[in-house]
Amino acid sequence: MHTAAVLCSAGEQGHAHGACHSSSFKVVVVDCYEHDYDAVAFASVYSSETGVWGDLLSTPLPYSGITVVNPSTLVGNTLHWLLSGYSGILEFDFDRQTLAVINRPPGARYNDRVQIVQVDDNGVGVSALSCAHCQSAYCSHQPCLHICDRKVDCYGVAVWVLRKSIDLQKLLGLGFKIEMKRSRILRYAEDVRALFLWLHSSLFMIQLESMQPKELFKSDNVYTYYPFTSFYNEGISGLKQ
Ligand SMILES: [Zn+2]
Ligand SMILES: [Zn+2]
Repeated sequence: MHTAAVLCSAGEQGHAHGACHSSSFKVVVVDCYEHDYDAVAFASVYSSETGVWGDLLSTPLPYSGITVVNPSTLVGNTLHWLLSGYSGILEFDFDRQTLAVINRPPGARYNDRVQIVQVDDNGVGVSALSCAHCQSAYCSHQPCLHICDRKVDCYGVAVWVLRKSIDLQKLLGLGFKIEMKRSRILRYAEDVRALFLWLHSSLFMIQLESMQPKELFKSDNVYTYYPFTSFYNEGISGLKQ
């Protein structure tokens, strides 16, 4: 199996995800596979409560050579992965126990400039660094940060709607023009709804609800970044202060 996601499965009242280390959990593993002439994505779920792996769920892929990109984004009760080799998203719906492939919005093709994010309460969105003027991968225009969310239109068809188009140079207060080839979206942190971007020589965090940016550190090149959050249980009430 290519990649996996681990989720807390505690559902009791008053449970706040965070310090879940002793809670029951679920593991979802996914991969893409070619069998005869068919390409499929498949998944299986393990439950620590039963100690059993569930049946394999699968969904067809349009062609072979497609792989799943790490890591997933959980929105509501659905996990989402970007696909590589195809401009799509793999979705695993926990409630319905279904696996499906959906299209991405236009302009969200290149995986190093796309992340799946949460929009509003439980809506799935896509953030992408793309050009507002052309479709080229490395044009000389300045990239914008576009955020789209998925809506169901009056015919019941899911469509991507552009929610925000952010001028990063202005937002980050940069005194130079951003080049597409020196821009990447590295990670999205679900818990704090923050996007991590590397632009030119700095790593920035943007909190997507407040659109509050923060420069974390300077580095000439960053390809991988793992945001880390730690937790503690509130003990003595005086410590709250
Ligand atoms: Zn939890
Ligand atoms: Zn352009």
